[in-house]
Amino acid sequence: MTAALAVVADRLIDGTGRDPIEQAAVVVVDGRIDAVGPRASLRIPDDARVVEGDDLTLVPGFIDAHVHLAMQSGVDYGRLLMTQRSMQLLMAVPNSAVTLAAGVTTVRDAGLSPASVRDAIDAGYFPGPRCQMAVSILSQSGGHGDPTMPCGCELYLDCGMDIPDARVDGVDMMRRRVREVLAAGADWIKLCTSGGVLSPHDTPDAAQFTVAEIEVAVEEAAAQGKRVMAHAMSTAGIKHALRAGVTSIEHGCFLDDEALALMKEHDAWLVPTLVAPRDVIAAGGEGRTIPEPMVAKARAVSEAHMESFRAAVAAGVNIAMGTDSAVGPHGGNLRELALMAEGGMSPLAVITASTREPARLLRRDADLGTLEAGKLADIVAVQGDPLADLGILAAPDRVRLVLKGGAAAKDTLTGA
Ligand SMILES: [Zn+2]
Repeated sequence: MTAALAVVADRLIDGTGRDPIEQAAVVVVDGRIDAVGPRASLRIPDDARVVEGDDLTLVPGFIDAHVHLAMQSGVDYGRLLMTQRSMQLLMAVPNSAVTLAAGVTTVRDAGLSPASVRDAIDAGYFPGPRCQMAVSILSQSGGHGDPTMPCGCELYLDCGMDIPDARVDGVDMMRRRVREVLAAGADWIKLCTSGGVLSPHDTPDAAQFTVAEIEVAVEEAAAQGKRVMAHAMSTAGIKHALRAGVTSIEHGCFLDDEALALMKEHDAWLVPTLVAPRDVIAAGGEGRTIPEPMVAKARAVSEAHMESFRAAVAAGVNIAMGTDSAVGPHGGNLRELALMAEGGMSPLAVITASTREPARLLRRDADLGTLEAGKLADIVAVQGDPLADLGILAAPDRVRLVLKGGAAAKDTLTGA
């Protein structure tokens, strides 16, 4: 047993949705939370190392349910042409490190990263968040995940190692490909049931894959205890995915009343990624190489996307925070939270949707997502009160301490 660690703060938001605890402390023993509560009523062991700072708020480690760790930050097609595919994989190392340092202690990688990224982080080869992996982004030919460009070249966004080919057509091929992706170590099956922004041949308001194709993916995943996440922007693509039994709708830009009712009926999840279209638009404005039709698609979905999110919040749909980082910079994940508040969530609900809720989506809520005794000590200390201004969570110098399983991934409080 290692010596206990106590983190003392002005306030603590435990991730359950309960009101903050003022003048709080958390005691960590052997990587888990031993006790949490008001400082005055907590017994801090005599030999505990005590960490404290000015105006600190403690929150659970954040969980981003949609990232792409093995993809370089920011979209730039010119740069992509000049980047070796092995470099895409190597970039997972710094990308993982900055994600963790930003306070994101768990992610779901929504494809383009091999499962070895998860395993290498777990083995301690480099710092990074806990990961669940989708590996491939399955797509119909000409769909959102097809790397073929109009010029005929294939422009791959992934490293090409241990990632089964994206293109799938027909139920038999889907059955086989899902089995291949699971054999490659995937925790999730990711497929595209609509067009998207960063794809040359389709539009976000079109559906992709037949319901029969999606159903067979859900069936094969379930046979191995796994679930399906769908890139689904269009109304029809969202409904097809839900009717076929998909667990989470990624982006969900065009939700109508029937789609919202289906989400409730199926107890499905929305992973909004509100920041992603904004990051595509910004990339266009920053002089990076991004085809104008893609920027135009981002502009076209951005407003409907926010309105859909607002309707989902009002309808009480399950919502888990996600960002689509690499579309924006890795480590900038928590910029999403202020946008969620803009879309009608209370700041406290935003924190819950970024901690306990994604832990439930990932079925890791027994260990992660809240600051409660017995859970893994994934703890973030931020300077200031995020309920007064969620924007501070996205400021690197405000994130003073990040603990993952009780080990400091970032610490500017003790200089350790
Ligand atoms: Zn994505």
